[in-house]
Amino acid sequence: MASQTGSIVQHSLDALLEDETFLPDLKEQDRQQAFTSLTAILSTPNHIHKSFLRIALENGKVVRIPSFRVQHNNTLGPYKGGIRFHESVNEDEVTNLASLMTLKNALHEVPFGGGKGGVVLNPRNYSVIELHQICKKYVHYFSDILGPDKDIPAPDMGTGDREMDWMMAEYKSIRPGATYRGSFTGKSIINGGSLGRREATGKGVYFTYRYMMSDFLNENREWLDAQENPFAQTALDQDGKPLKMAVQGFGNVGSVAALEAYRCSYLNNKIVAVSDRNVTLYNPEGLDIPALVEFTDKNEGDLPTTEAELNGLEMKADILDREKVLYLDVDVLVLAALEDQIHKDNVEQVKAKIVVEGANAPVTGEADEYLADNGVIIVPDILANAGGVIVSYFEWLQGRETQFYSEEQVYDMLFEKMQSTMDTILPQFFGDPFPLRQNCYIHAVMKLSTVLFRQGKLY
Ligand code: GLU
Repeated sequence: MASQTGSIVQHSLDALLEDETFLPDLKEQDRQQAFTSLTAILSTPNHIHKSFLRIALENGKVVRIPSFRVQHNNTLGPYKGGIRFHESVNEDEVTNLASLMTLKNALHEVPFGGGKGGVVLNPRNYSVIELHQICKKYVHYFSDILGPDKDIPAPDMGTGDREMDWMMAEYKSIRPGATYRGSFTGKSIINGGSLGRREATGKGVYFTYRYMMSDFLNENREWLDAQENPFAQTALDQDGKPLKMAVQGFGNVGSVAALEAYRCSYLNNKIVAVSDRNVTLYNPEGLDIPALVEFTDKNEGDLPTTEAELNGLEMKADILDREKVLYLDVDVLVLAALEDQIHKDNVEQVKAKIVVEGANAPVTGEADEYLADNGVIIVPDILANAGGVIVSYFEWLQGRETQFYSEEQVYDMLFEKMQSTMDTILPQFFGDPFPLRQNCYIHAVMKLSTVLFRQGKLY
């Protein structure tokens, strides 16, 4: 487990070891020993699978593409997590992301374990035919360890419904007669995907922030006011004022979260900046998000980068460097791009009071500590971006039942699940000295530890 996740899990275990109301049957020596076992179990993956996919490119050249599937933990159910296509993917990163999936599923009571896949390539450098070959080969090489009750991949960075459709089809050909619908999630609707899956992560990201800053805050105002917790103060300080928001990343997660924020009638949001791999667009008066979404739909996902393109949209915005989105004078910063975006060398320039993690691990450990010490509320990845895997779970269920839910049912179930997690976590967070990330980890680790204890696996 890479350092940040590993050290927060360790802090959580240390806190739980001291808390004798947790697993009270475990005392003294036995307790020490059980917690040592827990560290060993949670800090290492069960399996790291690695293959070099052999692909014949269209120009006739044969290449070997490194690829991984890491199965971190299956205490709560089959391994579950996306497959990332990215040129900088490596074993440590995939392992860390797999452990985040274990925690994410435990936190939200999704009956899956944690896994993650990675293929080291930039998908923009390959033709559709080559990508199809790569997807088929991935399933071929890893087919023994995948399956609806073993390990269920889904999209992640660089992959989407097209790749999941191809992969499921390959799985079906390799295992004729076996159940196959639940072998991959995030498929297209026509191929057994769930309505709402594409938007689920972005909608969930926005929901966590909205629920904390409107419903929860309004219902608990007096109680929050009485807390001497710096985070409670940060939340109350923002209340009632227009909330200036910047969104880093305008892909599947960032664009949906921005659109939700733009349309939201619960909060007075003003989205003043959005960014992508090329630019940051900034207008302190607010940006027309629906127009930008329409533009990216027509331009291979890219935001406008020139005055002429902005004029075509009748839009005014400053065109800034892409990383400028992180340092603007805003209340809320949604991070929906890559990991490690805020780190020790740039954290002091961040002005936002609330940071919402739409991506996995976008804030490094040192930066996280710095922000938390300054009262910044960080809504962590495992809490905020679980919408994708939650709707993946619904897709897996629908595949089993061959009964499909309406879009409205999917969103109702999604928000109900996320709300139930928030109702458990937020009172703890605003009532005690731990940052929100630590609270979420403690909750997830409690769940995993209790199940392991009751299964007689802690000795
Ligand atoms: N890749 C997404 C995540 O990081 C979704 C995983 C899934 O649906 O299994 O949460």
